[in-house]
Amino acid sequence: MNDTLKALFIEELEDMYDAEQRITKALPKLIEAATCKDLKAGLEKHLKETEGHVKKLEQVFKSFDAEPNAAKCEAITGILAEGDTIVKKNKKNSAINAAIISAAQKVEHYEIASYGTLKSWAGILGNNEAAEIINQILEEEKNADRSLNELSEEKNEEALEEVAPGTLNR
Ligand code: FE
Ligand code: FE
Ligand code: ZN
Repeated sequence: MNDTLKALFIEELEDMYDAEQRITKALPKLIEAATCKDLKAGLEKHLKETEGHVKKLEQVFKSFDAEPNAAKCEAITGILAEGDTIVKKNKKNSAINAAIISAAQKVEHYEIASYGTLKSWAGILGNNEAAEIINQILEEEKNADRSLNELSEEKNEEALEEVAPGTLNR
């Protein structure tokens, strides 16, 4: 086995192990801020999946006989901080759901990029079990992104409307 690539793989895995835990903590804030019930439901579903991703990553560590360690993911920390800011700024206006979708899709795209890489590295390292688990996570991230895309068409239109505060309950 190529030790250099394996070390790189484990580093990236530790990064995503940290990222998923941060996402688990951030999603409830987005769910609370959403005024669209379809968006709330979609994010709630993805929160459950994200909790599953933490567990699945632990299985990946195990498949490499490695301890599950978290290494701070600076990227997701930044993406979540920006998300927090944009959501706070739009809390009381008609763009709130559009703002949440944009923040959530940035998270998904980072995850999709990372898991695409991890999946191919696991394959190159000959660990098919890891590649399969990572692929399951990757598919859930892609589905989450697709659902957000569908919702965004409607919610971006809504963001153009002038709505009195408190009437955004759809
Ligand atoms: Fe995830
Ligand atoms: Fe990262
Ligand atoms: Zn995700």
